[in-house]
Amino acid sequence: MQSRFQGCQEGIPGHFTTGPVNGLAGAIGNTPLIYLKGLSERTGCQILGKAEFQNPGGSVKDRAALGLISDAEEKGLLKPGGTVVEGTAGNTGIGLAHVCRSKGYNCVIFMPNTQSQEKIDLLRMLGAEVYPVPAVAYDDPKNYNHQARDYAKALDNAIWTNQFDNVANANIHYATTGPEIWEQTDGKVDGFICATGTGGTLAGVGRYLKEKSNGRTQIWLADPPGSVLHSYISSGGKLIERTGSSVTEGIGQGRITDNLGTFIKNVDSSLHIADEKSISMVYEMLDTEGLYIGASSALNVVAAYEMAQKLGPGKTIVTAICDGAYRYQSRLFSKKWLQLKGLENAIPENLKKQFHP
Ligand code: PMP
Repeated sequence: MQSRFQGCQEGIPGHFTTGPVNGLAGAIGNTPLIYLKGLSERTGCQILGKAEFQNPGGSVKDRAALGLISDAEEKGLLKPGGTVVEGTAGNTGIGLAHVCRSKGYNCVIFMPNTQSQEKIDLLRMLGAEVYPVPAVAYDDPKNYNHQARDYAKALDNAIWTNQFDNVANANIHYATTGPEIWEQTDGKVDGFICATGTGGTLAGVGRYLKEKSNGRTQIWLADPPGSVLHSYISSGGKLIERTGSSVTEGIGQGRITDNLGTFIKNVDSSLHIADEKSISMVYEMLDTEGLYIGASSALNVVAAYEMAQKLGPGKTIVTAICDGAYRYQSRLFSKKWLQLKGLENAIPENLKKQFHP
């Protein structure tokens, strides 16, 4: 018997439906755009956060996972029963595990052995085979990315999705996230800003919005400590040695990935956001908006606020709320951990008693 849901909305690219969607893939994307009242009122701008935590795997990386797998299928690189291999410490692996499970592929994840047991347990629960490997630098052949590449190469009907340099990642944001933002703002979007890990979100959304607005929409990059892209942009293209680190996870970059590629030349400006501000915003968003967001999302919200202040009142600024705080709560909401990182004073004074009595 034919299901009445057959032929229903796939969820891509970037068009909305109120009807049923086709399985997990159909439920990826079409996320709400949340008006952030407090920050908007303070700046006289409209500050909007794209609620990527509403994707089925809980993060913006569900889109990349679907994009990478769909592209490999279309190119005939991945056939039924095949294996998807990736080196990832977090959200991409979770997204891939979900999509693989829904499409009947095997999923193999190589991750640095410094990652939390919860992540390993979750990936295994979702059906992935997980190999924690020594956390060594990128130029060491034992680095988790190279191990993933080599593993896939040695296996029949297997692909290494290569999220950093496979542009199917940025392309899915061009095909979905960008159009969604354009539609949700009726084309009245003055600025988009976000931090980058692979650069897929920034380059995909940025490219789409630049094209649709004839270059009018400002695209800015936000960088955490330990990332080199802010200095690259503000110095007009000088790549410096990576120094320092950040407590934000999933963002920060030491090189120009293929996903960022030549798009980085079209990035209008960039902001450096200190961890104190990001942590403070994690708490502020929960307190004022009831939003329980991760640190990279909080960094993005700080960046959108600062961009609004710089562009002046009346503007519409969009950013990404990449995931929820659920995956990081043992850190972000632990007094001991924040003290260890020297960030205990980042909690707004009026919230200290409430969260860390
Ligand atoms: N925030 C989080 C929590 C992430 O996991 C990632 C992806 N690593 C990003 C932001 C950055 O997204 P992108 O890879 O598209 O630059």
